[in-house]
Amino acid sequence: MIIAVDGPTASGKGTIARGLARHFGLPHLDTGLLYRAVGRQVLLAGGNPDDPLDAVRATDFPDSLLVDPVLRHEGTGALASRVSVHKGVRAALLERQRAFAAQPGGAVLDGRDIGTVIVPDADVKLFVTASVGARARRRHAEMLSRGSDAPLEAIRTDLIARDARDRNRAEAPLVEAADAIVLDNSDLDAQQSLAEAIRIVEAAVADRPDRPA
Ligand code: C5P
Repeated sequence: MIIAVDGPTASGKGTIARGLARHFGLPHLDTGLLYRAVGRQVLLAGGNPDDPLDAVRATDFPDSLLVDPVLRHEGTGALASRVSVHKGVRAALLERQRAFAAQPGGAVLDGRDIGTVIVPDADVKLFVTASVGARARRRHAEMLSRGSDAPLEAIRTDLIARDARDRNRAEAPLVEAADAIVLDNSDLDAQQSLAEAIRIVEAAVADRPDRPA
């Protein structure tokens, strides 16, 4: 079973994807980390994230970079959003994501284009979203819990800019797949969101025409 989980920044898609993977016993890939690693590698190499050649060169990052806590920082997320607009970067990361999805037994992948580009024939596609206000408040609380802080308004402005860049880019823009099920969790906490996601996946699997009788 392949589960695609897409959605904007701070929608809670990562928490939902991890929870679904745990619940259904599937491996999970946070594809945002790959783009974050490319953004980080461009900086380490002294390159320019807006330059397609520098960005494509950085897709050769060492696997050890994927566990660097710097990847989780807000600044690295913004860099990821800049390198991810380049066609060559997306192409270089495509096979790695498809190979992960093709594991026997299936997988859960979360990102922006999993249901539209990476695995268009995924068994279940979830599009997780929430209002900008709810996402900004969550991101703010998350930063406080990590001991960093930024004004709520600045986080909100950054989220709006990230959304615009992700939705308006020419290559694999963030968009709901036609057959995705939208989960708006503006008024749900993390536990309620996961419970709803599990319910959606179970219902989708039960409706599958190839389901054994
Ligand atoms: O999901 P996360 O916030 O870690 O993603 C960081 C950035 O990487 C996103 O804003 C987006 O621009 C890019 N990304 C992408 N495609 C994916 C995952 C992430 O373009 N599948």
